[in-house]
Amino acid sequence: MLNNSTRLGSLPTGLLAAGALLAINLTGCATADARDTSTTPTAVQLQAVVDQAHAKFKDLKDGKNADYIPILATIPSELFGVAIVTNDGKVYTAGDTDYAFAIESTSKPFNLAMVMQEQGPEAVQEKIGVEPTGLPFNSKIALELLKARSVNPLVNAGAIAQVSMVQAKDEDERWSKVRGNMSAFAGVKELPLSDETFKSEYESSWSNRAIANLLYNYDRLYSDPEEALVVYTKQCSLLVTTKELGVMGATLSNGGVNPVTGKRLLNEEYVPELLSVMLTAGFYDESGEWSYTAGLPAKTGVGGGIVAIVPGEMAIAAFSPRLNEAGNSIRATKAINYISEQLKLSIFDGR
Ligand code: GLN
Repeated sequence: MLNNSTRLGSLPTGLLAAGALLAINLTGCATADARDTSTTPTAVQLQAVVDQAHAKFKDLKDGKNADYIPILATIPSELFGVAIVTNDGKVYTAGDTDYAFAIESTSKPFNLAMVMQEQGPEAVQEKIGVEPTGLPFNSKIALELLKARSVNPLVNAGAIAQVSMVQAKDEDERWSKVRGNMSAFAGVKELPLSDETFKSEYESSWSNRAIANLLYNYDRLYSDPEEALVVYTKQCSLLVTTKELGVMGATLSNGGVNPVTGKRLLNEEYVPELLSVMLTAGFYDESGEWSYTAGLPAKTGVGGGIVAIVPGEMAIAAFSPRLNEAGNSIRATKAINYISEQLKLSIFDGR
């Protein structure tokens, strides 16, 4: 049987297809066109790189679980899963990819997709704003500093504002739409809500409550503040597996159509706007670093999940609870970065 890591190790600059390398050798100049389908990674290469990313970082112990939401501190820190989901719905996994964890902020782009779908990208730009704050995800100073109280949809303030924009007559309808949309992205009937996570987070959500009230004070929240806070906190308390998070991401890489269910969830022409927000703010105040290294639109969550989008091709999801100072999972960041480098997936790579 082929040993995946030997195979991978034998490719000098990563996983460029043999055909492309041969073309370089024969002509003597590097004319390989990466958009050429000959460089589309094969199933064997995708499985190999997922296995390698998992093996390479599984012993890393840096960082610690989030603890400002008490229940997140109790999740086993050793859990680690890596998955690739391609636009044709194929799934490649390594590690704990069936463990269901709190989706937290990795949910934010998917709710944003629903708001865009209902009201268009301009409404998001006007009513929330799309400039990255460059500040931590729970910043209250950002609300005071930034022009027009503009906040980004991927930090807490903007995500609570997104929830308040969902067209609904009451809290039940708002929650049912948010959950229904999130489940449709994951390609499942209904994502489970962790009551324990909700309780733990809601009972300690003084900072988010302050944010919701500040937004309301500045006319930048479009529903009752407590209602928006409750629904936002429930949204963050939905449970997903790494595989499901990969399917959610692949719906965006696939132009808004879920590759597993075939259901369209976002107009194709809105996908670039959504991905641009993910690239510039998906890692909060580390988004510049992330763009510089992995070069992919992505979103992190304090539950330890990260999803990255390779437009037109695939999504990469990873999960591991230990976080760095910015609230981003260390092992998941490294695993996705590694895969991006190996497969030369950066959107700036001229593919
Ligand atoms: N629910 C979390 C919060 O509001 C989400 C933050 C995150 O995942 N970065 O604080």
